[in-house]
Amino acid sequence: MVKYDQMGIFSKKKNTTTTTHTAAHSSAASNAILNALHDSVFVISGDGNIRYMNPAAAAMVNFPSEQAKGLQYASVIHLLDSNGAPVQGNQNPIATALRTSQHTESKEFNISKIKSREALPVHLTATPASPEITVVILRNITQELKEEQERSEFISTASHEMRTPVASIEGYLGLALSPQTATIDNRARAYLEKAHEASRHLGKLFRDLLDTTMLDDNKTKIKAVPVKMDSLVRDIADSMAPAIADKGLNYQFGSNDVATATISTTRKIEQLLYCSLDVDFLREIIGNLIDNAIKYTPTGSIFVYLQGDENEAIIVIADTGVGISQEHQKHIFQKFYRIDNSQTRDTEGTGLGLYIVKQRVEAMRGRIWVESTEGKGSKFSVALPRISSEEYERQKMAMESSMRPRVSTDASAPSASSNPAATNPKTAPAPAGHQISRGQK
Ligand code: ADP
Repeated sequence: MVKYDQMGIFSKKKNTTTTTHTAAHSSAASNAILNALHDSVFVISGDGNIRYMNPAAAAMVNFPSEQAKGLQYASVIHLLDSNGAPVQGNQNPIATALRTSQHTESKEFNISKIKSREALPVHLTATPASPEITVVILRNITQELKEEQERSEFISTASHEMRTPVASIEGYLGLALSPQTATIDNRARAYLEKAHEASRHLGKLFRDLLDTTMLDDNKTKIKAVPVKMDSLVRDIADSMAPAIADKGLNYQFGSNDVATATISTTRKIEQLLYCSLDVDFLREIIGNLIDNAIKYTPTGSIFVYLQGDENEAIIVIADTGVGISQEHQKHIFQKFYRIDNSQTRDTEGTGLGLYIVKQRVEAMRGRIWVESTEGKGSKFSVALPRISSEEYERQKMAMESSMRPRVSTDASAPSASSNPAATNPKTAPAPAGHQISRGQK
């Protein structure tokens, strides 16, 4: 016979007295543990009703456990998104766990207390423990977020302060090494070249650290403008051609056939790819990926090409370099992750490049992935959402008209030049481009 214990977790009733004693003991022990836990535990049945809440959960939602039993979880666990709006339907990780029977986890939500409406940031896990029950655990992360914020502010201030002296060291070493500005003997040159290289590395580390903390603090703003991908990607990639040649590598750029629509067996038309994106971000993404391709390719070639399907424009940067093992491929987009082997050990880097690239790609609602074979080479693909040619024209016109000074057609109205609003930056038309807030889907 199946019966439910205090937590609503079903258990099979056994006949022997010993088993009943053991069961009673273990139930008392689990109760003691749940009562002592600082994390909030909710046990929810398959139909979404609450079966059990521990005391920490009752305190977190500000609602007595006895009254919560049998109520729908959504009427007790009020989740809010980062804008303070209630989390609905499929956005709710608890609903997803109940629907899919898959474990879900998130740090994105706040929980609002019943009555007082005070909101707390929480780490949420929803784990289906059996076909009948899902266990939801909420941990208050207010302190954790505060510490993270302080840490990132410290890193950001320190990197900012150190960037200036490092830039001046790099500048002076550059002057010392230039035959036009200084005379030095060959031994001193070798030392200064090493110092110059190290100061450049330090400068890059501080820049990457600053970018990383800005990204982590959601301080990076995106300025999206409509662009024609073919010419833009080509211009950015071509600007890296001298650096590729300096390393003695071949470089090829190509628009792939996938971007070409076949309209008959004999005639093909180029299908132009348009996107709405931040050009500086795209420059940084392609620059970083080509830079890596150069660093990790001792001999051979670098290929850059652009593909497209119905929904996305896909930029591919491929090399014939050292490659990345399957194991490392899982981690290379993490902060500070560097592969330490005989082929990469001597290559300078911060381990932040791919992390920043991934954040930038995702901020523009794109995806990035890698395919690679050790010893053969790597292929990085960046997919960004396409816009239609009509949408491109519409955004372009909107952008141009926002930049154009407004001329009144009304003869009685003051002219644009005499209208102070037209020249006052506070009342002038909005700048070109539109902002996408990070993480917006
Ligand atoms: P780093 O500053 O070390 O280059 P990244 O975040 O850009 O940092 O890259 C992380 C690691 O991924 C690198 O240390 C390198 O081992 C590996 N990696 C990145 N790009 C390539 C590539 N094109 N070929 C081989 N390995 C690569």
